[in-house]
Amino acid sequence: MSLVKDISSDSETNALTRMRAVLERQKQAHIREGAPSAELRIDRINRAIGLIVEYQAEICAALSADFGHRSTDQSIMSDVVGCLGGLKEAKKQLRKWMRPDQRASTFPFNLTGAKSRVEYQPLGTVGLITPWNFPLAMTFSPLAGIFSAGNRVMMKPSEYTPRTAELLAHMFAKAFDENEVAVFTGGPEVGQAFSALPFDHIIFIGATSVGKSIMRAAAENLVPVTLELGGKSPTIISKSCQMQTSTDRIMNGKMLNAGQICLAPDYVYVPKGQEDAFVASAQRSVATMYPTLKENPDYTSVINQRHYDRLQGYVADARSKGARIIEINPANEDFSQQPAHKIPPTLLLDVTEDMKIAQEEIFGPLLMVKSYAGIDEVIDYVNAHPRPLALYYFGNDPAEKRRLLERTTSGGVAINDVMMHVAQEDLPFGGVGASGMGSYHGYDGFKNFSHAKAVYEQGGIFDIGRFMRPPFTPRLRKMLLSQVKR
Ligand code: NAD
Repeated sequence: MSLVKDISSDSETNALTRMRAVLERQKQAHIREGAPSAELRIDRINRAIGLIVEYQAEICAALSADFGHRSTDQSIMSDVVGCLGGLKEAKKQLRKWMRPDQRASTFPFNLTGAKSRVEYQPLGTVGLITPWNFPLAMTFSPLAGIFSAGNRVMMKPSEYTPRTAELLAHMFAKAFDENEVAVFTGGPEVGQAFSALPFDHIIFIGATSVGKSIMRAAAENLVPVTLELGGKSPTIISKSCQMQTSTDRIMNGKMLNAGQICLAPDYVYVPKGQEDAFVASAQRSVATMYPTLKENPDYTSVINQRHYDRLQGYVADARSKGARIIEINPANEDFSQQPAHKIPPTLLLDVTEDMKIAQEEIFGPLLMVKSYAGIDEVIDYVNAHPRPLALYYFGNDPAEKRRLLERTTSGGVAINDVMMHVAQEDLPFGGVGASGMGSYHGYDGFKNFSHAKAVYEQGGIFDIGRFMRPPFTPRLRKMLLSQVKR
């Protein structure tokens, strides 16, 4: 039997009761059936891949309807093709990942033929809570790790993309039994009830503020969490950079999905005196990629009125406090009347710390441009703020690059590019500090969703424990004391 549950209209209590029942059934099935074989894990991954392939057109249509407009090519790139890579890699590698990890036994146990190893065991049921910005990618990327590690999963997609959430529920119900995968749609109240369940692990992908509530709820049941959060990712332009190449990559990162990406560059630091050169170069980059914006199918809309107002509010607040606002609108189009919520890419200069845009994650097509005299000024600024999800450096000065890498802490780093470290399946993806905890993708995803069980086997060559049991002998004391040295 398959499961599609829309519990958004139920009371919180009923929702909780129903989710609890599914979780209990998943837990019982896990105990009854044990760790799934490699074949079953591959079969689950194949079914997930099959869903993406079969529903690709519906996925792009649902995403565009939910966003008002979302580029179909972008959806294919990020949410269709983007999901497949990780799943296929997991399928290829999981037999190797599942192998026990032989470890050294400590002296003197090693002299007795003792064996030590780590066995990777499924955790059981993982709870997955996802955001609206990449609803498919944020569901299927974690699934590569969740399935390869042999787990079952319950999911709660975002209420901001209701058509995509319904489609996900329908898709999974078609290919999976509720004991393997169950989808629950609904808003924050359902999310709250969901995060209070005694899962074996929760992965939450969303805002830092909500991440705190998730961790509080999970703490009640001592459920371990992976938190994939947001933040303000800095981008540093070195004096040694090639400006046009850099702005081509930065503005692409800022405009993909209309900047609604956890990894989008949030602010750019340029060497003092190069602000105007940066602006002119960014204008050329935008005009080349997007000669028009309003009707351009490649340019995605801001998700809804609430986020449109939030972003326009940042601009108004910054303007009123003295920022210089440069809207990049290559065809001078009028955005006051439009069917969606598109906002042209906008640069903000002379931003001060009292402005809202300097304090909040932007998550939209706005970009702050700051300037610096020396690289240590940038390092001090980054270190005085919450640890970001990513940091980007554009330049070819080895000493500067090394200093930034060593003196700042971020989830990941891309050099002479933005965001592309997330596409490297063999690199762990995750945040640090306020941008999150835990990481996934590839082998790191497998390990994140596994229990690394320590197994020790007595060697049997001789019973070493005999010397450690009372009555304690002078010989034991001599042996112990011989080790008390520097
Ligand atoms: P959000 O935190 O508002 O919502 C995420 C999910 O949590 C949704 O399903 C929502 O219904 C649910 N939720 C909301 N309140 C809840 C609560 N109190 N208890 C339990 N669940 C609750 O985030 P969003 O607006 O959907 O997404 C944008 C944020 O996500 C940005 O901050 C962005 O940086 C971050 N993000 C991070 C990553 C990453 O990999 N690090 C990826 C995508 C998005």
